[in-house]
Amino acid sequence: MSSEKEVLLSIKEDVSEILVSEEQIASNVKMIGFKISEEYHDKDLIIVGILKGGIVFLADLIRVLSIPVKVDFIRVSSYGESTKTSGAVDLSKDIEMDIAGKHILIVEDLIDTGTTLWRLKEHFLQKNPASIKFCTAFDKPSRRKIPFQPDFVGVELPDRFVVGYGLDFDERYRNLRHVAVLKQVEVE
Ligand code: 5GP
Ligand code: MG
Repeated sequence: MSSEKEVLLSIKEDVSEILVSEEQIASNVKMIGFKISEEYHDKDLIIVGILKGGIVFLADLIRVLSIPVKVDFIRVSSYGESTKTSGAVDLSKDIEMDIAGKHILIVEDLIDTGTTLWRLKEHFLQKNPASIKFCTAFDKPSRRKIPFQPDFVGVELPDRFVVGYGLDFDERYRNLRHVAVLKQVEVE
């Protein structure tokens, strides 16, 4: 059986280029956290994380906030095992809190075509929240099919398939501390 160090090394070898470093991510998370703390300083906020990719960003984000928050999760899948979006958004777990009359902030890992968040917005609006805003760690604005504009954005990315910081390829690489391009995906 491989040691933890060997596994980490093999993960790093799969990656061809680091697009966003750990330091860059951390400073963006602080910047977004500051803006969110300002915006909601006089409101009760429920943060909704999108499973699974959004968990890493959410975990970092809530710890830089200077306001109290409640946290819930929703689970959607739009990718399967491929690197191209299917267009279909499957909601397999809904939030558990009652958000009627509450301010909610949806936390996503990455916005690509905009389909997922657009569909989720419709879903949440039916629950009558007081307000709904969207926050994403990464954004690929050049890939939009639906003109969806998030309220809080971390780093803009080029049109390349990336992994790390919550983002996976076939469920792997979510634990990388940076965002990187995968070698085998590039040569496909
Ligand atoms: P959208 O619905 O905006 O097209 O994309 C939604 C989801 O696709 C994102 O939340 C993200 O999980 C996934 N996705 C989009 N681009 C990438 C990428 O480059 N790498 C990974 N791992 N997932 C991506
Ligand atoms: Mg996602």
